[in-house]
Amino acid sequence: MDYYYIRFRLDKQNLSHYPNLMSEPIRNTSPLWESGILRQKSIFPPSACTKRNFLRLCATGFAALSGIHLFGLPERSHAQLAKKGLIKTKLSPFFTPLAQGEIQCELCPKHCHVAKGKRGACRVRENRDGKYFSLVYGNPCALHLDPIEKKPFFHVLPATTSFSLATAGCNFHCKFCQNWEISQASPEDVYSYDVSPEFVVNKAKEAGARSVAYTYVEPTIFYEYLLDIGLLVRREGLLNVCHSNGFINPTPLRQLCRIMDAANIDLKGFTEDFYHELCDGELAPVLETLKILKQEKVHVEITNLVIPTKNDNLSTVKEMCLWVKKELGSDTPIHFSRFYPLYKLRSLPPTPVSTLENIRDVAISTGLEYVYIGNVPGHEGENTFCPKCKKRVIHRTGYMLGEVRLKGGKCSYCGKPIPGIWT
Ligand code: SF4
Repeated sequence: MDYYYIRFRLDKQNLSHYPNLMSEPIRNTSPLWESGILRQKSIFPPSACTKRNFLRLCATGFAALSGIHLFGLPERSHAQLAKKGLIKTKLSPFFTPLAQGEIQCELCPKHCHVAKGKRGACRVRENRDGKYFSLVYGNPCALHLDPIEKKPFFHVLPATTSFSLATAGCNFHCKFCQNWEISQASPEDVYSYDVSPEFVVNKAKEAGARSVAYTYVEPTIFYEYLLDIGLLVRREGLLNVCHSNGFINPTPLRQLCRIMDAANIDLKGFTEDFYHELCDGELAPVLETLKILKQEKVHVEITNLVIPTKNDNLSTVKEMCLWVKKELGSDTPIHFSRFYPLYKLRSLPPTPVSTLENIRDVAISTGLEYVYIGNVPGHEGENTFCPKCKKRVIHRTGYMLGEVRLKGGKCSYCGKPIPGIWT
């Protein structure tokens, strides 16, 4: 039979040597996830062994390996098996019963009306006899130990690792999603682990992570799971961090803020048209989320993926930066990331580095103090500079950290406080 075994262990050192691999999208739709030690029949028949398939296999294998090492493998007998179609339910606290057994979901601004037996737009919430249930309470499909810089957080515990997880589903349908194979999937479509909140926190501590990150897809859609993990995380002295599209209603958001330490919010564009055409979402609720996070004193960083011809207009970028400065403060870190052709926007080219540099100049000219360029390893725009004395206080190359010139959260040259969570 065409079985093979891969025995491999990824540790923090291995990860830090492969910054480009780490920025690969998460993929777990392959049967590689079926066995804890990657016991696997040939995925592709010889006729299908194209370069594309080979690269896909490599990406899948990497994703599987980086999840598997968290379970302390390779001991075959102790393997935590990923199962396809695993569903775990919990009653949602955010829905309103309607006539004839229908419900309205109150978790995100989509406010889905859902008939009996049907699901909302995120695919992971189902109306069962007039009650609304999460289908992803305890069945994550992605588990990774990542550098926190990958989230990206540049002002939160630099050079530490974050135990990162996601379930299937998302409340957006972005045409440029880099994790579309899980974000645009139903729980039945992916390979998931049966993992309780307690297990997540214990594994995070065992792995030496300083934080747990809710990421890869929109964490709002696994809200109940996130909240229960988050409470335990707080008890154990770790941080809760998330990367989110910010598309959540104010009431659940404010409850989440009680346990959330830091949020990186995608501000994907600065027009409603962009959100409607490319994300199946809306801009206004995202701006409201950013303001609430600031009010609730959650550390906020912003990511803007710059897509050629779609959101790279300099005057719109300037408008966005002025809004950030006015509503959130000039000390809000903002990351302008390079787009690579993916999913439904494969016909576009990667963002030229010169475009990112022009945008960074515009952002700095508006008065924003921490403006970063992402997905261009080695670029000067990855570093943190003190806005007062202009000296470099954190040196980065990809996800690797160089010299750090901070003392007690202040620039060690001139003493200016640098916003963030540093200890
Ligand atoms: S969380 Fe899901 S079900 Fe609820 S409103 Fe948003 S997309 Fe619809």
